[in-house]
Amino acid sequence: MNDRIFLSSPHMSDEGFEMEYIKEAFDTNWIAPLGKNVDEFEKELALKVGSKAAAALTTGTGAIHLALKAADVNDGDIVFCPTLTFSATANPIIYQNAIPVFIDSDYETWNMCPKALEEAFEKYPEVKAVIVVHLYGLSADMDKIVELCRKYNVTLIEDAAESLGTYYKGKHTGSFGDYGIFSFNGNKIITTSGGGMLVSNNEERIAKARFWATQSRDQARHYQHSELGYNYRMSNVVAGIGRGQLKMLDERVAKKNYIFNFYKRELSHLEGIDFMPSNEWNKPNYWLSSMTLYGRVRPIEVMEALEKENIEARPVWKPMHMQPFFEKYDFVGTDVSEKLFENGVCLPSDTKITDEQLGRVVKIIRGLWE
Ligand SMILES: *Cc1c(COP(=O)(O)O)cnc(C)c1O
Repeated sequence: MNDRIFLSSPHMSDEGFEMEYIKEAFDTNWIAPLGKNVDEFEKELALKVGSKAAAALTTGTGAIHLALKAADVNDGDIVFCPTLTFSATANPIIYQNAIPVFIDSDYETWNMCPKALEEAFEKYPEVKAVIVVHLYGLSADMDKIVELCRKYNVTLIEDAAESLGTYYKGKHTGSFGDYGIFSFNGNKIITTSGGGMLVSNNEERIAKARFWATQSRDQARHYQHSELGYNYRMSNVVAGIGRGQLKMLDERVAKKNYIFNFYKRELSHLEGIDFMPSNEWNKPNYWLSSMTLYGRVRPIEVMEALEKENIEARPVWKPMHMQPFFEKYDFVGTDVSEKLFENGVCLPSDTKITDEQLGRVVKIIRGLWE
């Protein structure tokens, strides 16, 4: 059996940058708490994405949670959330006892449909915050979404967990909203084994998020708490991995682009295949190369044929409004996200993939059309 080809797996630098930063943490015994790697990783990531401040956290999910807290989302508040996403976008809304309203995608971006968002604003003018996601590294239509959020004076949170390295009209995703979040989970474009980042131009709110993330300890010699706290801060060892990985980001984006273009070149001619959308303002990181199949060959056949050869492929996210846990909440839109789920496939997009392996994937897929 050939070695498994992954959808997206951790890829440490050949140069060993990550180990150098980890070693520094060990040599100075700054294993915990916090330390230089955390401070520097925050600065370096903020600089990369063009935000004034950043807080390094244990997960991207935790970053969304603190963004909602920073936006003052509480009991009974309504939060708009894309339906086509990973559950980690929606779960923190429930942590805050708030109410999600799920918004459909459009075919132009696969992300939050501005028309459906506008409809939702008309239906729920009292909404407290909007979370927008940049799925698979494709940016949402930010001009329209930002304009709508301004018009209704609502806090915008960008879940950029999948879009580190993605730009919209030359500006980095995650830097449009009042808050942006990134994830360094194992399958993301860069990883710290697990971790997240909250970014904002509001330095005071980021300082507050750091305070919540360290158990809300007031300035006092004794342990004094006047607010609910969380244990969400990234460790100095983990941040060292992040600093090394961040050096590799541009190279990883280039490889993801190469993978996407390879598939597009070799498979586009097949009947029924459409690749994830591109448009002039979107510069995606192509985290996962994805396509839809509306013809004779179905996604399940592609996934099964690849799995037989030890190659990982996955369906597109199952929409939140179709999930048993979330189906009781309102949904605004039509059937776009449902169609993307039923017809979508994510192809192996591991940055360690070789041309020989890409060739094998392509050959197996083409075989289904013969
Ligand atoms: C991975 C991911 C998250 C969560 O990040 P974690 O670091 O795993 O908590 C949130 N939203 C989206 C869209 C993701 O893909």
